[in-house]
Amino acid sequence: MIYTEFRGEKISRLGFGCMRFAKDPATGEIDQAKVNAMFEKAIAAGVNYFDTAYPYLDGKSELAMTEALKNYPRESYYIADKFPGHSLPGPIDNRALFEVSLKKCNTDYFDFYLLHNVNEWSMKVYGSDEYHVVEDFKKLKEEGKIHYLGFSFHGGVELLEQFLDAHPGVFDFVQIQCNYLDWTLQNAKRKYEILTERGLGIWVMEPCRGGKLAKLPEELSAKLKALRPEASDASFAFRFLQGLPNIKVILSGMNEVFQVEDNLKTFESYHPLSEEEEKTLFEIAESLKAGVPCTACRYCCAGCPMELNIPFLLECYNSIKVERAFSVLMRMDGLEPDKRPEACIGCGQCMHACPQGIDVPSALAELAEIYQNGPKWADRAKGRHESIKKDLGM
Ligand code: SF4
Ligand code: SF4
Repeated sequence: MIYTEFRGEKISRLGFGCMRFAKDPATGEIDQAKVNAMFEKAIAAGVNYFDTAYPYLDGKSELAMTEALKNYPRESYYIADKFPGHSLPGPIDNRALFEVSLKKCNTDYFDFYLLHNVNEWSMKVYGSDEYHVVEDFKKLKEEGKIHYLGFSFHGGVELLEQFLDAHPGVFDFVQIQCNYLDWTLQNAKRKYEILTERGLGIWVMEPCRGGKLAKLPEELSAKLKALRPEASDASFAFRFLQGLPNIKVILSGMNEVFQVEDNLKTFESYHPLSEEEEKTLFEIAESLKAGVPCTACRYCCAGCPMELNIPFLLECYNSIKVERAFSVLMRMDGLEPDKRPEACIGCGQCMHACPQGIDVPSALAELAEIYQNGPKWADRAKGRHESIKKDLGM
């Protein structure tokens, strides 16, 4: 197993993500026997980092993870859990909800704890004095109930810098979506640079972009097979991340034993990508992209009569063209209604200013249609309010 050093801790670079456990088709419940078998294999090979979250699998991930770890000494592994600030019914007793998670995980501290899903939408909570989330978790860290505090991040570069500026010295690490496609598609490269410059450890989620890079279209997969016939598509995605020194932990949400075995093989030792392999991965990334070639230069912004954040909207558009991820629609929910794509009046000013010749009004019209017909995070979050209220006896 490849290990990483983080502030004196020796952590396996492969982290076990607990958000996608397989379910028993007969009962519809988590297949605990399979979870136990996967953990046994992973732990025997040296994995010592397990990542869950309060809302994963309707609150059952924390329990299944704890059950699978019950026979191992607490000090032999690290657990990470997350606070669901993006799903709160209103201001709550943050500490009480944290205690619920501690109880479910049968522990009196979390090695790593994260504010879940900081983005343009959830800033209504994370950026609000009324919810005092950051303050409360800062205190819990001072009390030793949290060893390292971080946040998982789904927003844009601008927000990342603003959030870090607002809370200097509070966070130890940040979890971002990073893979060889999002390196340029979602500006993961810039996020990596910002976090590294600030001395924060980087944790990676979605290393294979929800499985997309683990099972490439046949013609793209063939390009990788030509380079390394025995290697899986996923192994290339992981090796890309292994080559970035400030990426401390790479989380993989494993739900089948064969995935665990394949990942363990990739993390047994480090084999840097050759120049040709890296070039091929970036070519594959380009061919997976759809949408518009916006470079975020912002030349178009000054002349927009509606004062729209055009590069932000086009980043959402490009991401949605690759995959209609909920997290992107959620970011758009965070905009004021008069700043959403439907506010574009189609005047065409931006097209004249754009050095890339992008037809912005058409892209925004398409985005507006996708957004208006898509699910709204506020609606989905309502389902989670009840479980939080129940857990807190509200
Ligand atoms: S076409 Fe839309 S985005 Fe472009 S300048 Fe006009 S209002 Fe703004
Ligand atoms: S001018 Fe063109 S490339 Fe620059 S931010 Fe606007 S749309 Fe993107």
